[in-house]
Amino acid sequence: AKGAGRNRFSFFTPALQEAAQTRARLAHDLRSGLQEQQFRLVYQPIVELATGSVHKAEALIRWQHPTRGLVSPAHFIPIAESSGLIVDIGEWVFQQAARQVQTWRQTLHPDFQISVNKSPAQFHHDGHGLQPWASRLQAMGLPGACMVVEITEGLLLDTSTRVTEHLLALGDAGIQVSLDDFGTGYSSLSYLQKFDIDFLKIDQSFVRHLVPGATDLALCKAIIVMAHALGMKVVAEGVETTLQRDLLTAAGCDYAQGYLFSHPLAAADFEAYWSASRPT
Ligand code: C2E
Ligand code: CA
Ligand code: CA
Ligand code: CA
Repeated sequence: AKGAGRNRFSFFTPALQEAAQTRARLAHDLRSGLQEQQFRLVYQPIVELATGSVHKAEALIRWQHPTRGLVSPAHFIPIAESSGLIVDIGEWVFQQAARQVQTWRQTLHPDFQISVNKSPAQFHHDGHGLQPWASRLQAMGLPGACMVVEITEGLLLDTSTRVTEHLLALGDAGIQVSLDDFGTGYSSLSYLQKFDIDFLKIDQSFVRHLVPGATDLALCKAIIVMAHALGMKVVAEGVETTLQRDLLTAAGCDYAQGYLFSHPLAAADFEAYWSASRPT
């Protein structure tokens, strides 16, 4: 046992120790970052393939760290999740996105819809006694349908009544639900039927290698047929080329999102993009 202990100790290399310290420091900085308004949202257009029209966008968080510069959400969201701070960050994201969609329903499109990402942890500790999102939208004079909540497949494996009831409440309020990164998790047909899911987002990893005849094209087609049979719309993520767009359009995909159309944009830049992309 002593030997094992020594071996275990030897795993704790300076590099690992440094990584752990960086995480601890970032967890601390996240808290002050929220108070000091270091976060902002950017918006990526979601394009309706059949018409080219843009009346949906995904809100993505950005963190301008005072000394580290721009920190990727892929890096800090997991830290926010494990430290529990994701609940407060998530509430901030909701508030910002709700205000933005309220504006854009007046200035851009009456049915404008904003997607926000919601981590599993947010379903477990919903807002320390705050009103649920649906009531807060209602208080702002907004219908539930102005918002889409993006969840991941892992959440649907959680059969706790808390998660199930939360998802049901979203659906009852007309808030739509989108299944993010579809195809990368424990995809199962049974949960797609069990929950009221409005959109499937085909993960970027399937879109990346789309060429005529590719296995991934067959997979995308199968996902689209299945989603439509279950009454869901399909969004393809990570569309970077016109070939990918055309293959997805031909396969009957409903919406696409990716650098081909636009990177995620600050609100003012999104408005400029929207004006320029309007069919004349
Ligand atoms: P996601 O929800 O899957 O978001 C899509 C990611 O793909 C975004 O990265 C987006 O900028 C990027 N992307 C969009 N188009 C393309 C493309 O054509 N090619 C490539 N290679 N990438 C593209 P981002 O903004 O860095 O976000 C990373 C992840 O962080 C998100 O993945 C999401 O899981 C998480 N995240 C971002 N914002 C939030 C948030 O407000 N709350 C929560 N809980 N998670 C968030
Ligand atoms: Ca997402
Ligand atoms: Ca629904
Ligand atoms: Ca995704």
